[in-house]
Amino acid sequence: MSFDNLGLNENILRGIKEAGFTEPSPIQEQAIPIVLEGHDMVAQAQTGTGKTAAFGLPVMSKINPQGGVQVLIITPTRELCMQVSDELYKLGKYANIKTVAVYGGQSISRQVDLISRGAQVVVATPGRLLDHLLNDRLRDFNPQYVILDEADEMLDMGFLEDIEEIFKFLPASRQTLLFSATMPREIRALAEKILKEPKTVSVQSKEVTSENIEQYFYVVEDWERSDAVVRLIDYEDPSRAIVFCRTKKDADELSTTLVARGYPAKALHGDLEQRQREEVIKSFKAGKVLILVATDVAARGLDIDNVTHVFNYHIPLDPESYVHRIGRTGRAGKAGKAVTLVKPLEFRELNRIKQVTKAQIYHMEVPTLEDVKSKKITKLVDKIKHQHITDEATELFAQMSSEMDISTLCMKLLSKVVSKNKAEGPSHIGIKGKNLERMIEAKSQDRDGKRGGNRRGFGNRGGGYRNDRGGSRDGGYKNDRSSRTSRDRDGNRGR
Ligand code: ADP
Ligand code: MG
Repeated sequence: MSFDNLGLNENILRGIKEAGFTEPSPIQEQAIPIVLEGHDMVAQAQTGTGKTAAFGLPVMSKINPQGGVQVLIITPTRELCMQVSDELYKLGKYANIKTVAVYGGQSISRQVDLISRGAQVVVATPGRLLDHLLNDRLRDFNPQYVILDEADEMLDMGFLEDIEEIFKFLPASRQTLLFSATMPREIRALAEKILKEPKTVSVQSKEVTSENIEQYFYVVEDWERSDAVVRLIDYEDPSRAIVFCRTKKDADELSTTLVARGYPAKALHGDLEQRQREEVIKSFKAGKVLILVATDVAARGLDIDNVTHVFNYHIPLDPESYVHRIGRTGRAGKAGKAVTLVKPLEFRELNRIKQVTKAQIYHMEVPTLEDVKSKKITKLVDKIKHQHITDEATELFAQMSSEMDISTLCMKLLSKVVSKNKAEGPSHIGIKGKNLERMIEAKSQDRDGKRGGNRRGFGNRGGGYRNDRGGSRDGGYKNDRSSRTSRDRDGNRGR
């Protein structure tokens, strides 16, 4: 399947090529022809499946370059607003499409100015857009294409009333598209109100927990959570990770613990000031912060590439949010790992997640301190073997080897290196062995009914923590784009 025979305009195809998209994602393949035909549409697909291009490409193909504002996209947060407008700018570049991002905290007159100076696409957050509309600041504002993006998130943030209000200002003859990762009742009801005879497309949740994500759970007691996360981070050595917490307080405490132990970690949650959030996201994108400790709402929808690990400090409250969380990794065909901590009382939630997502989530034991040490040693030995010898070192060696014998020198050097990356913490963490097995079987039996202990789901693959299976699987779509622009983004909720 390629983009070429979907009916998109030439200049848009050029933008797609330059963005490095080689083939449409499933939601794009389904949605694009329907949008081009002019139907209203409800589209459901998980985060990271390419929904932006699924509506952006076809509507931009239909735009008249001379015609003023024709497309309105409403997004829940300021970050998403900028993300969407960046993406559309990139894809629409050769079609000469001008986009304006409209959100709170920015100069009103400047926004109005940019809009009236011939932008065809307006991407807006609900609060600021409504403000413009109520104050009658937008002249001849008649977008023919209106897209409600990440609708479920609007619901979560309490924007539905604003949305209904906004639609009172929009022309009756328009094409309306609603995109959402999940379809709660309230969103279906909203769709009834604002769409006309919509077509429905959805990419089912089988594809939802991506093939590229390996999923594991570890059984721990409540008080062991932070030790367990630290241990797993030590062991896994992620190059970029998000740890999800249930509360802002947990996120703050955990990030403080991680920082105290020497990890470049930062918390991201709704209590931070806009500027602080902006900085956190920026340093995470730039790789200065390697571990983002976040609450669900703060992190949802953020498009951050190359997250290698997602940790669930607490198991999420429902399967949909599990899917959302782990969808932060394993994107664009890359491999990712999702790690969930559960206490025995939470097996019920775990089972529900497995049933709904049909995911294989494998049981693992938290590595011991010894395991971490020996893994670190192996890595260190490997690094030393591959270390390039510098001129400075050669000189220093000549100097020092005349002062002491070579083996003393070596041992002194190694001691210095080893003391620098020491693993800490209790030797054993988590509930293990026969006890756990009995516990798991009993629980899954009384939760799932008669089935003989549900060994499949809980299967302890290969035993222990040996989960460093090599080689990434090839799923999803290809994208050879290597970096994203990391302009400032910040985090108020569009007010
Ligand atoms: P969603 O809105 O479903 O969460 P996005 O539209 O933000 O997903 O897309 C996620 C990422 O995938 C973006 O970085 C986007 O550039 C990239 N992407 C989208 N479509 C394709 C494609 N067909 N091929 C490669 N990468 C794509
Ligand atoms: Mg999106």
